[in-house]
This record gives sequence, C-alpha cells and structure tokens, in this order.
Amino acid sequence: MTALLELRGVGKAFAGLQALDGIDLDVRAGERLGLIGPNGSGKTTLINCIAGRLLPSAGTIHFDGQDISTWPAHRRARLGIARGFQIPQPFLGLTLLENLLVPLEFGRERVADAHTCKVRASAILARFGLVDRAMLRPDVLSQVDLRKLELARAMAGAPRLLIADEVMAGLSDSEADEILQILRELADSGITVLMIEHIMRAVRTFSERVVCLVAGMKVADGTPDAVLSDPLVERAYLGE
Ligand code: ADP
Ligand code: MG
Repeated sequence: MTALLELRGVGKAFAGLQALDGIDLDVRAGERLGLIGPNGSGKTTLINCIAGRLLPSAGTIHFDGQDISTWPAHRRARLGIARGFQIPQPFLGLTLLENLLVPLEFGRERVADAHTCKVRASAILARFGLVDRAMLRPDVLSQVDLRKLELARAMAGAPRLLIADEVMAGLSDSEADEILQILRELADSGITVLMIEHIMRAVRTFSERVVCLVAGMKVADGTPDAVLSDPLVERAYLGE
C-alpha cells in the first residue's frame, strides 16, 4: 500500500545552515503521527516543506501519489493538506465566521456559494465551541480559543492531512487536554493527523507512531514507547 504522504531524501538548507538533511518519511492514510525533537531540530521547517510555505532544497514529497515537491501552498491546500501554526495566524480584521470563509473557499472542497459557506462555517465554529462569538473578531479570544480557531480554520479546508504545530504550547493541562480531545475526534473522523508537540504526555497518548528529529535528521521512528525510551532521543532532550 502506498502512503498518503511520502518524503524521500528531503533536505532544506538556509544560508549556512542545513535545517533538514535526508528525511525519509511515510505517513499512511488515517495515521496519528507524533513528530518530536528539541528546539531548532527542524520540525517546523519540515512542516513548511510539506505544506508548501517552503520548497525543499533536496528530495521529493509525494501526496496521494502525486509529486507535490514544487507546488505552491495554495495548490497543496486544495489537495487536502492543512496546517495550524505554532503561533496562531488568524485574520485579525475579520470575524471568526469570516476567518473560516477563506479556507472554505480555497480549501479542498472549494465551497463557492456564499450561503453554503456561512452554514458550513457556523457548523465548524459550533464543533469547536466558538459559535457564540461568530460575529466577533479574534482579539476577544483567550489563548486556548485562539488555538481552537486555528484548528477550525485548518478544518474549514476539509483536509485529508492535518498538521498541528505545537498547538498546545503554553496552555494549562486541562486546556491542552481539550485540544488533544479535538485532535482525537478529528483523527477518529478519518483525517490523518501529524502532531508536533513538546508535551510528552500528549505525544504518548495521541500518537500511534512517533518520529524524532535531531539537528535536521530523523533519529528515531517507531511506537511511542520505543521512541520515547530511545537513548538517542533521551540524550537529545537532556542536552536542551
Ligand atoms: P523546530 O521547529 O524544530 O524548533 P525549526 O524548523 O523552526 O525548528 O528550525 C530549524 C533550524 O532552521 C533552526 O536552526 C532555525 O534557526 C533555522 N531556520 C528556520 N527557519 C529559517 C529561515 N527562514 N531562515 C533561516 N534559518 C531558519
Ligand atoms: Mg517549531
């Protein structure tokens, strides 16, 4: 069976810095994958290469059998790749409802009809517990609700692959649990979820498989128990 997402030899060089080096990674449809690694190990860069914000400087990326290595981000979004940013990036001048209209229109389902768009946006906001503030702007939201809006915007694109980049960072334990629960429900609905997370409790309970990057290289790939007890991984985190 071919993987939904397939990376072969993916590298990314910034001036004088090899941020990613020879990354091979297969993600199968429906999988819950955790991506870990110390700060600066290349996690966000890898996500940027998958979502199209950055183009890899080496290697190939296939999604659903198509070579998307050089595609711009909006084409990848149409194909079903969505991501939430480490620092939420809502449209501050738009209401919560309007924030979802953009991905609804430019995501995989290309919802064109204005009324349908609004109905869908309201339904997604309801699912994330934000519908009571649909007509307000994001600046009224708490941190945890901003993270929910970020995921809601990603979901409005009707993704097949959802990438969540440290969407629990800085939240309390109970808030992080709320987000984790949402990610679980999304995964249960059939969406492939790639979760980047520093909170090991979340990584362990969420992931079927964990991949660890250190200094731009993949150093471990296996079950949460195996990877989190791997001496190489432990050493990488202790050195932080
Ligand atoms: P992580 O998400 O694992 O913390 P990043 O992918 O953000 O790591 O960063 C990996 C390395 O690449 C770091 O050394 C970082 O400083 C560098 N880096 C990331 N983005 C850029 C960029 N746009 N220009 C130059 N260097 C970058
Ligand atoms: Mg990062």
